[in-house]
Amino acid sequence: TNVVNKIAAGEIIIAPANALKEILENSIDAQSTTIEVSVKEGGLKQLQITDNGHGINKDDLAILCERFTTSKLSTFKDLSTIQTYGFRGEALASISHISHLSVVTKTKDSPVAYKCVYASGKLAPTKKGANPQAVAGKDGTQIVVEDLFYNVPSRLRSIRSPSDEYYKILDVVQKYSIHCLQAGFMVKKTGESNYALMIRQNLSLKERIRTIYGSGIANELLEFNETEAGERYGLVAFSVCATSPNFSSSKKTPPIFFINNRLVSCDPLRKSLQQVYAAFLPKGANHPFIYLSLSISPENVDVNVHPTKREVRFLHEDEIIELVTERVQEELMKTDN
Ligand code: ADP
Ligand code: MG
Repeated sequence: TNVVNKIAAGEIIIAPANALKEILENSIDAQSTTIEVSVKEGGLKQLQITDNGHGINKDDLAILCERFTTSKLSTFKDLSTIQTYGFRGEALASISHISHLSVVTKTKDSPVAYKCVYASGKLAPTKKGANPQAVAGKDGTQIVVEDLFYNVPSRLRSIRSPSDEYYKILDVVQKYSIHCLQAGFMVKKTGESNYALMIRQNLSLKERIRTIYGSGIANELLEFNETEAGERYGLVAFSVCATSPNFSSSKKTPPIFFINNRLVSCDPLRKSLQQVYAAFLPKGANHPFIYLSLSISPENVDVNVHPTKREVRFLHEDEIIELVTERVQEELMKTDN
């Protein structure tokens, strides 16, 4: 029933940034090269995400917000999608139960775009006009989430300030813009002309880090990749971009971890890396910047973690962490002077 769906949805999406992350991942998944986010009242009033990706076929629009329908969508060709982002088919369904959700989308093959309004998992009945309705539009998809949690008062009460929520949203987009070098990212508050984040598509990883985290960090970066270690543990490859021992700061920037292209937390990995750095850096100022991307055999990763719990689980965790940590240590020793 709708009440059950609403409660379930309120558990999957507990803050505007959770909704944003899911929608952003869908845009990235759709091979977008520009993604623009606009935020009103911390995303509670409105969250608008516009991409230039492959769009959604008209025939799929009716079931877009039904749960677990992902694999029925005709755009669902690439099996690797399950292994990275799209494994649950629950995000849009959940969001449609706890907000006013509308979608405008156009595929390359279609002469027109279609606008759809959803309510509780289905196309909403409209008083006038068709749903989906043919409209003018560019290739790509725009998702608009309005009045998030309008029907979940307990959630609304637990959110302390729209400003906190806004910064959580900004933080998620910043991290994806470090990881997804194929795309440009923009964030602004709705109605403002200045962008809080503006990462053009052609910017390199270092330039992105400079723009977001400053020159202090960007000037002291070590970058390295590994494609051969750890095969027997299911580790396919990893890449690291982290500050050298020449950079010390008393300001904490929590490490950024992507596993199989998903932004995750991994406490054991974080602790292990911080220990390595602590041996090089002065006490009290031992806060490195670390961005680490791991590719692990998909069957070894529990991607089915709850969206609100970013903590990831994978097989051979200790071995993989040790391997990665040792490699980082090696690089730090090379540059320590
Ligand atoms: P999942 O991503 O787990 O499949 P979602 O509810 O997040 O579930 O999305 C459902 C489906 O809608 C996606 O699998 C994708 O096919 C389609 N979709 C959603 N957003 C976009 C987008 N921005 N561009 C193209 N297709 C999209
Ligand atoms: Mg998704």
